[in-house]
Amino acid sequence: MNVRSARIPEKGLSPAPSFVAATMAQSYDLLLKRAKEALPKPVSSGERFQVPEADLIVEGKTTVLRNFLDITSAVNRDPDQVLQYLLRELGTAGSLEDRRVVFKGKVTATQVADRLKSYIETYVICSECGRPDTRLVKEDRVAILECDACGARRPVKVVKKAAKVEEAVLAEGKVYEVMIQDIGKKGDGIAKKDKYIIYVPGTTKGVIVKVFIEKIAGTVAFGHVHRE
Ligand SMILES: [Zn+2]
Repeated sequence: MNVRSARIPEKGLSPAPSFVAATMAQSYDLLLKRAKEALPKPVSSGERFQVPEADLIVEGKTTVLRNFLDITSAVNRDPDQVLQYLLRELGTAGSLEDRRVVFKGKVTATQVADRLKSYIETYVICSECGRPDTRLVKEDRVAILECDACGARRPVKVVKKAAKVEEAVLAEGKVYEVMIQDIGKKGDGIAKKDKYIIYVPGTTKGVIVKVFIEKIAGTVAFGHVHRE
């Protein structure tokens, strides 16, 4: 940062003797304002990397992201690419209209913020130096993130699993096909799905059953055999 330009001009600090208090306060405010204006404007550099918050409004059956182009220019990426990413990760349809994106259905600010965050982590931030001064280049169909700040290059690692995790692997009131892998002390069948242990009474080891999940407590779930 340019420190010199932030300094308040010295001559402005010695008020003329005839100034009344109110005028002094005013002129101080003015000085402060001028000093702030003289500060360098935020540019695309690490310390001042600021992405505007998603400005969303619901319009009928759509949700409008009003400052989409402000966001894409802050991250310095192609709006179409960012949009494709958002739509895929949000699992919805939408289109670019002027500076805005119109999503089908209801989308929350948190959902958009989460996806933008992972987009930035994947496609913008340099993993070596953590700065956003990067460019995306294609090499043999592989997207490479090139850092202007430190010169690092890395292929873009698209972590598709991350977004799926939020869609619970197991949910109460739903039916899943599982294999009973073990029998618990009380004789209930035990199945495993991702991090969950599912107790299914009345089953035997090795069978594949459809289980209706009644209750989930932490990573333990309780269900019963579901018969259609
Ligand atoms: Zn870097």
